[in-house]
Amino acid sequence: MGQINVTRSSMPHMDDYISEIRELWDTHWLTNMGTKHRQLQEELKKYLDVPNVGLFVNGHLSLELSLQALELSGEVITTPFTFASTTHAIVRNKLEPVFCDINPVDFTMDVEKIEALITDRTTAIMPVHVYGNVCDVERIEQIAKSYGIKVIYDAAHTFGVKYKGVSTAAFGDVSCFSFHATKVFHTIEGGAACYRDLEIGRRLSKLRNFGIRDEECVDGIGANAKMNEFCAAMGICNLRIIDEEIAKRKMVADRYRENLDHIEGIQLSPLQQNVEPNYAYFPVIIHENVFGATRNDVAMALEKEGIKARKYFYPLTNTFDCFHGKFDVSQTPVALHISKRVLTLPLYANLALDDVDKICEVVLCVKKK
Ligand SMILES: *Cc1c(COP(=O)(O)O)cnc(C)c1O
Repeated sequence: MGQINVTRSSMPHMDDYISEIRELWDTHWLTNMGTKHRQLQEELKKYLDVPNVGLFVNGHLSLELSLQALELSGEVITTPFTFASTTHAIVRNKLEPVFCDINPVDFTMDVEKIEALITDRTTAIMPVHVYGNVCDVERIEQIAKSYGIKVIYDAAHTFGVKYKGVSTAAFGDVSCFSFHATKVFHTIEGGAACYRDLEIGRRLSKLRNFGIRDEECVDGIGANAKMNEFCAAMGICNLRIIDEEIAKRKMVADRYRENLDHIEGIQLSPLQQNVEPNYAYFPVIIHENVFGATRNDVAMALEKEGIKARKYFYPLTNTFDCFHGKFDVSQTPVALHISKRVLTLPLYANLALDDVDKICEVVLCVKKK
């Protein structure tokens, strides 16, 4: 068996991509909301079943600029069990992240612990649909409404995921996606913000284009975060194959589940009720006291066989060196516990089922020792 990485970017047919970008040699229009950008935007509105989609150069800037568009101040309640981007988007906006613990079942924000964290400085909640697990969107909406605060979902992991038939892109004031090469759907680098309020849309459009209102008026201090035509063309091609890709991922995820379900000491991410999943990741939690070996033992055994699993998400963002111990990690004990035991196994559309079996064998071998 050759090397197996934790992920592998999906690629459209090369001919399809070439025919999609050919027209750019006629138009010479390479960025600044050209035809590919606008086409992808329209197609994503349909696919994600939302009224408005803004396209960005990456997922991070969709988060960072969405926080700005909502004109927040003070504190934002969020989760430390996420990628650096979520927390950095808050801090880079000079907002204070207040870390809420996660629940030990699906690893999303523990909604029972949100209200205790709300102060008169709280202006928003930024939860993450981690691994494609949908947050308790109903409870979060209730809380946000009763306290008059905003909700921005980091939906980087839930492209195409539906809850009770509703697209996860439709929840919150804004839902942000990442279309990074490693995600279920990608545009090489890219991102999107989905929203209902058209005023937020206008602010987002300006924030991603230097605050330019029109040729002779710049009335905002915006960044540059536009998706270019080559990336949009990649998205158009990848959207044509997304349903196949998710179906292939399902086969891989199902095979893992067959092999690892009911193994003592291994906890799997649940199949959530009322959710149409996208099989973005396959995290396992290794409970060493029952399993007889630690997460790090398992990761090393896999590494020896040329299999790259990832400690995703470890470390927690509230323990990052850049914050110099500013946050008290004892406030999020469940997240800390899970982050020390989690390992995401390789998962991508064309991962062979034999390889999945081999990976599981290696994992189970560690247990026997
Ligand atoms: C990938 C990711 C991001 C950032 O997306 P980029 O497109 O890489 O900027 C943000 N949040 C989460 C949870 C992610 O996984």
